[in-house]
Amino acid sequence: MPILETKNLTYKYGTGTPFEKVAVENVSLSIEKGELIGVIGHTGSGKSTLIQMLNGLIRPTAGQVLLEGKDIWQEPKKIRAVRFRVGMVFQYPEYQLFEETVLKDIMFGPKNMGLDEKRARDRALEAAEFTGLKPELLEKSPFELSGGEKRRAAIAGVIAMDPEVLVLDEPTAGLDPQGRDVLLAQIGQYHKERGNTVLLVSHSMEDVGRMADRLLVMSNGHKAALAPTKEVFSQGEELEKMGLRVPQITKIMGELKKLGCPVDPSTLTVDDALKQLLPYLKERQGTKTTSTRPN
Ligand code: ADP
Repeated sequence: MPILETKNLTYKYGTGTPFEKVAVENVSLSIEKGELIGVIGHTGSGKSTLIQMLNGLIRPTAGQVLLEGKDIWQEPKKIRAVRFRVGMVFQYPEYQLFEETVLKDIMFGPKNMGLDEKRARDRALEAAEFTGLKPELLEKSPFELSGGEKRRAAIAGVIAMDPEVLVLDEPTAGLDPQGRDVLLAQIGQYHKERGNTVLLVSHSMEDVGRMADRLLVMSNGHKAALAPTKEVFSQGEELEKMGLRVPQITKIMGELKKLGCPVDPSTLTVDDALKQLLPYLKERQGTKTTSTRPN
């Protein structure tokens, strides 16, 4: 059974007012346990609205969200429990740090779930380690941390609740390239080790290209695609029509393929591209040297 499903999910803002706006329309999808799904789409395509429905922060205007086969709104009084099972890390989550110490901040979620002090602490320590926060930072005030450290503390606070589904909205926004790489690697490791389902909302096609098994493409409130990453990236022109661009390396490999190079046009990473290009270029150089050698 899929861990998470939506059926004809629709959300309207400002129903019955002159500002009525359909933000998500008729979205049906099915996500298996342990998948890492990238969620992409132009600004305003409905990504945030969709993910807020997945953990019951907002209630769909129509349609259903099923968590392990059960409609999350079947018993509205129990919606709070859903928020612990589908953990949400918002954009710039560091603004939600407010406790005296970093450790207390990370313990906030697990305590809220009803865990006692000791268990909450154990969970928090484990989550801090997972996100690579140095132990000496835990007794500091969150305000003393660097941008990247704050981001990790906020993510640790959600991971500490051990959600079955972790949703991250633009987790690398505002980080420098190195901070971005470290954080993505940690998210990848979390996903691999825990085997939990992860949804990664991102503007960066490079990030989702590296990380995701499948991509959910949102366009104008609709699901434009939910398919394996390579398959989505092979539709470069379609993506461009939706205001999205394939990663630069994928574009280059596509162009090289058109020129007759024996490369995979849906290559997603620079490393993978080099593995294909270097042997090819070396071989060509070899042929060139041989053919131009004087007799
Ligand atoms: P994304 O996350 O992809 O940028 P959103 O879900 O934020 O997309 O927005 C989808 C649509 O809903 C946009 O047209 C946006 O202007 C509109 N919208 C988002 N939030 C609100 C709101 N609180 N009130 C009215 N319209 C909104």
